[in-house]
Amino acid sequence: MELSQQNKKSPRKGNYFEVIVIGGGPAGMMAAGRAAQQGARIALFEKNESLGRKLLLTGKGRCNLTNYEYDKVKFAEKFGKEGRFLYSALEHFGVSETLNFFQSRGLVWQVERGDRVFPKEGDAQNILKILMGYLAEGRVKVYCNTEVIGIDRAKDGTENFIVSTATGAISAKKIIVCTGGKSYPQTGSTGDGYHWAQALGHTIIEPKPALNPVETADRWVKEVQGLTLKNVSLQLYLDGRKREERFGELLFTHFGISGPIVMDMSKNINDYLEKGKVKLLLDLKPALDFQKLEERVMRDFREFKGRMFKNSLVKLLPASLIPVIIKLSAIEGEKKVDHITKSERKRLLHLFKELELTPIRLLGFPWAVITAGGISLKEIDPNTMVSKKIKNLYFAGEILNLDGPSGGYNLQECWSTGYLAGESAVK
Ligand SMILES: Cc1cc2nc3c(=O)[nH]c(=O)nc-3n(C[C@H](O)[C@H](O)[C@H](O)COP(=O)(O)OP(=O)(O)OC[C@H]3O[C@@H](n4cnc5c(N)ncnc54)[C@H](O)[C@@H]3O)c2cc1C
Repeated sequence: MELSQQNKKSPRKGNYFEVIVIGGGPAGMMAAGRAAQQGARIALFEKNESLGRKLLLTGKGRCNLTNYEYDKVKFAEKFGKEGRFLYSALEHFGVSETLNFFQSRGLVWQVERGDRVFPKEGDAQNILKILMGYLAEGRVKVYCNTEVIGIDRAKDGTENFIVSTATGAISAKKIIVCTGGKSYPQTGSTGDGYHWAQALGHTIIEPKPALNPVETADRWVKEVQGLTLKNVSLQLYLDGRKREERFGELLFTHFGISGPIVMDMSKNINDYLEKGKVKLLLDLKPALDFQKLEERVMRDFREFKGRMFKNSLVKLLPASLIPVIIKLSAIEGEKKVDHITKSERKRLLHLFKELELTPIRLLGFPWAVITAGGISLKEIDPNTMVSKKIKNLYFAGEILNLDGPSGGYNLQECWSTGYLAGESAVK
């Protein structure tokens, strides 16, 4: 199915579909494809002019489509206490079924750092093409440029729904809402589905940005913007008590910090900022304890005897970080390294092991990879994705109150819940 073919028609008043899927992202495409595979007449409504706009941004355009973790319990744990909700969906269409699905449609994939799965050749476009092929196979009627304005029960005594769009109202026996969260609204995910669900009686857990860069009060970060530190550890303190620690990659930006460990911690940073004083301590040398690091520093200083302090840190720090650490240490950069006092050395070690950062806020929805919060899971049947409140109404994907860490977990949630919703809606 070419993009141009998707845009030609609008749904017309009087059209009737067994299932209307709203939202042409990963969850919606999977749901519509699976529903159609079982022979039903399915329509997919997408407000953008093409499908999968956010999907094309995933994994920096390469699409980290899942995580190579076949154990459903371990997989679900990544979603915190809500993760148990996913057992059934993962059992039904989990990581191995997802990989088989894409592989059987021509994708060659590979496992990378952190068990992230990416296409080996090609990128997110290949994933989108496979999904569009799946829709075409099932003859799903795809209507792009079709913004849904509201959904309601038909007033004709049936249990049908009326889906209102700018071009008219279309009826369907069942609806699968896959409109995503509120993050990256420029891709079309503006939280529309929350309003319809709430109007129909569903509880919405307050949507909050997650996997989000963090703004800090420390102006020096600007001097090292663009610098990525690998194998560092970041500790989160609330009112002086350590709450969390993560190890991995961190990126400095012009406003603060980003990168996988920061993104994964961001949801908790946001929550803790509402509770008290939050501080982050960055350990630049987590493999060395204070004593070992001191020995290492003294060895370097002996080697560089007679050199200025500012020229003696080259083996310990990336070049752009050296002036920052010198400034923060309040040790004269021009001082001979062998004249550094013990207390100055301790100050330096402290910066290496506990470089303090003060988070102010998250950058918010425009830059959040995912939305935490959403439709309360208590009101959805995990075996079918159907609403426990409204008959024949289904939900799948990011609109649900589920958010996983980076690493392919969130797309897998969409494949699994989308597939299950599509299958159940037609069964
Ligand atoms: C920059 C970025 C990178 C990411 N990288 C990864 C990654 O590598 N791996 C990973 O696992 N996850 C990644 N994610 C997260 C992943 O993209 C989301 O989890 C996923 O796209 C959610 O899918 P969805 O189908 O639920 O919703 P969405 O992808 O948000 O799709 C919802 C669709 O519904 C449409 N819609 C909304 N309202 C209406 C309406 N009123 N009428 C009609 N249509 C409507 C929207 O236009 C949109 O196309 C990334 C996210 C971002 C922002």
